[in-house]
Amino acid sequence: MHERIAILGGGFAGLAALGELARHGPPGLAVHLVDRREDSVFSPLLPDLISARVSARHMRHPLRPHCEGLGARFTRTEVQRILPEEVAVETDAGRFGADALLICLGCENNYFGDEQARAGSIGLKTVEEGLTLRRETRRCAERLLAGGRCPVVVVGGGYTGFEVASHVAYALRRLTGRTYDELRRACPLLIVDKAPGPLQNVSGAVRRWAVELIGKFGVELRTECTVERFGKDGVMLSDGTQLAGALVAWAAGVTPGRAVDGLEASKGRGGRLEVDRFLRLRGAQRVFAAGDVAAAIPPGRETPLRMAVQFSLAGGRQAGRNTLRALAGEELEPFEPTDLGYVVPLAPGEGAGVVLGRETWGRLPSMLHYAMCSVRSWSWENRFGILADLRRRDVA
Ligand SMILES: Cc1cc2nc3c(=O)[nH]c(=O)nc-3n(C[C@H](O)[C@H](O)[C@H](O)COP(=O)(O)OP(=O)(O)OC[C@H]3O[C@@H](n4cnc5c(N)ncnc54)[C@H](O)[C@@H]3O)c2cc1C
Repeated sequence: MHERIAILGGGFAGLAALGELARHGPPGLAVHLVDRREDSVFSPLLPDLISARVSARHMRHPLRPHCEGLGARFTRTEVQRILPEEVAVETDAGRFGADALLICLGCENNYFGDEQARAGSIGLKTVEEGLTLRRETRRCAERLLAGGRCPVVVVGGGYTGFEVASHVAYALRRLTGRTYDELRRACPLLIVDKAPGPLQNVSGAVRRWAVELIGKFGVELRTECTVERFGKDGVMLSDGTQLAGALVAWAAGVTPGRAVDGLEASKGRGGRLEVDRFLRLRGAQRVFAAGDVAAAIPPGRETPLRMAVQFSLAGGRQAGRNTLRALAGEELEPFEPTDLGYVVPLAPGEGAGVVLGRETWGRLPSMLHYAMCSVRSWSWENRFGILADLRRRDVA
């Protein structure tokens, strides 16, 4: 099967690219989008599954009708190999050739090759993982109510680690009726990170505020510390602490999946694909990459853009436009996104970040986070659903 443009991955970057092709492509342009899942998942809301603040159905958007509505073909299948020289891809559903490829496959949990960590912890890249964390948090609450202890360890002191820890604490407080101080003594709730400090990529004031806020949730931060051993009876930390029956959440980082891993191409830190300023894979004329999988460095920057929805959407759109230009033999446009800022969102009502160049913390960044989640959702049903869920306070 040969189609003009194949988009690999239907997350933020893939759907943004598809939208651009549908708007600006010539009539009848054959576009094929492949994804291993039927739904596009709104990852920034996954932590809200833990505390049952937003329901799973408002985080999912069905890919097949979305693609068909834009005149594209959708195939649910796993991408196994990408062949840039042949502008082709091997999948579980067979081999597809195209005139141009857009790689938008995002990233997966990074266990750094530690199989014990993979088996002994719960990540947060899928809805299923979010629901597992919710179920385990409930079990933890039951143990606390029965007079037992329930240690919680979140591995990774980045954005996701902070979010996960705050949502677990928030859920435990609601399920047990205890204060955060009481939970601190009964659990304990820990974030561990190998690095000397948490939130390495945020500004000093935002980091200080976020650390102060996470402390209010009864969460203890242990830096230069990690889980040394996972066992059936619990975990042992590198500082010697033994935690029997601990719930361990994995938020230590992400990396591209196997299909990109096996691709012979220049890669940056964390295995992300190096792209030129037009988002073209280095050395390939008609293969583009956008979103988390690409280590895009726009003009004027020295390091790749952080992994974020705004850059995935902007990158997907740019990669879509440049694909059309490449096929038409026109000059490509450089990728120069505007940085609107970032928020470290904690459980509802709390957050810290930089918004349009201004550092801010408390309710405002939290509200902006949820507003952006609603606005950037792919359907009106999900937009209104998210807002309605947040008003209800419990969707379980
Ligand atoms: C818990 C969490 C919280 C976050 N919070 C925020 C936030 O508050 N703000 C923010 O800006 N960003 C946040 N992010 C980051 C943001 O979600 C990502 O930057 C964004 O999802 C990247 O978009 P993408 O299109 O590159 O990848 P994704 O959205 O991950 O999409 C990739 C797609 O590719 C598919 N795929 C992958 N491999 C294969 C394969 N081999 N075969 C077929 N299909 C495949 C996947 O199924 C998926 O649909 C968060 C991420 C997580 C995990």
